Amino acid sequence: MNTMIAARLHAYDAPMTLDRIAVPQPRPNDVLVEVKACGVVPNLARVVSNFFGKLTPDNKLMPPLPAIFGLDPAGVVAEVGDQVWSVRPGERVYVNPARSCGSCRMCRSGQPYDCPGWTLQGYFGRSQEIMRAYPYGGLAQFITAPATALVKLPDSASFEAAARFGYLGTAYAAMRKIGVGPGQALLINGISGQLGLNAAQLALAMGATTILGTGRNQNLLDRVKALGPGRIDIIAVSDAPPGPADPLVAWAKKLTDGYGVDGVIDCLPPGAPGSAMMRALYCLRRGGRAVNVGAVMETLPLNAFWLMTNRIGLEGSVWFTTAEGEDMAAMAAAGTLDLSALEHGVSPLSKVNEVLAGMDERNGGFTNFVIDPTRVE
Ligand SMILES: [Zn+2]
Repeated sequence: MNTMIAARLHAYDAPMTLDRIAVPQPRPNDVLVEVKACGVVPNLARVVSNFFGKLTPDNKLMPPLPAIFGLDPAGVVAEVGDQVWSVRPGERVYVNPARSCGSCRMCRSGQPYDCPGWTLQGYFGRSQEIMRAYPYGGLAQFITAPATALVKLPDSASFEAAARFGYLGTAYAAMRKIGVGPGQALLINGISGQLGLNAAQLALAMGATTILGTGRNQNLLDRVKALGPGRIDIIAVSDAPPGPADPLVAWAKKLTDGYGVDGVIDCLPPGAPGSAMMRALYCLRRGGRAVNVGAVMETLPLNAFWLMTNRIGLEGSVWFTTAEGEDMAAMAAAGTLDLSALEHGVSPLSKVNEVLAGMDERNGGFTNFVIDPTRVE
């Protein structure tokens, strides 16, 4: 029997342990991927403390224990199932962890992201069945995944950069919903965090001509502006109440000929107040559109009459499709998406608990936490 090392969680709020387990066999439509890099998101520390499991009364969001976490795996195809024809062993890939049931009304009608069982492999989700079918997260040396989940990576995209695709793709899907492109003015609320920085990099790649960003740390904001000084403007925000008289709104209007921005992407971190998101929405022009991909959990002080009379659109977005992942890989290959500002902090699998405990120490969104499961030291 072939074996591998996986970091497994046996109890919530306890450290992961390195266990030797069997290498899984791919089912007919699946592939086996040897993981070379897996992104670690700061939120994983909350997940392994069962924060999200406790949000539902029946606690059905979390995978059965022992669980292997790891959201953003990239590696090399090791084996393919006998029904897989367009992917071959040796190919470099990112594994999109988004899973759906494949047979409900939404899946059958081509909207798998609206599947009631939608689940993120290696994280948590709405279907215990899917989590049992795909129990391998990227904090293991091998994982199985459906062949349809693979994003083929160009040679120019490193495994470490691909391990950041979760944030990048989340931002990209939001920007596609807004229609970001030339001539558009976009406000990224929380531009110096993981999601916000990737949104800025993508907005540059997608041709947005005016990219406005909010944040709190002037140092980090200056570094973000340096990515595109002619197109990015940043502002350090305080805690002013939301409303049309907010200095943030005046700043956004001044930079958009008095109109306000065409789109807002909200990338605020967990714990940010609803008022901080509302302030960004007031920067929209009449008819502007906002997409929330941030983690504000508080109720918004939202005036529905203002929303209606200003024809404002507000929607939520979660994760990204494999097709959107392919777009990003193509932009990286063409050189239009520049990810060179990311600072990869690569650690061996044996340091996973230390990495999770130390994630508050980072240079905002520039730090990219990566685990290399091939190294067990
Ligand atoms: Zn479904």
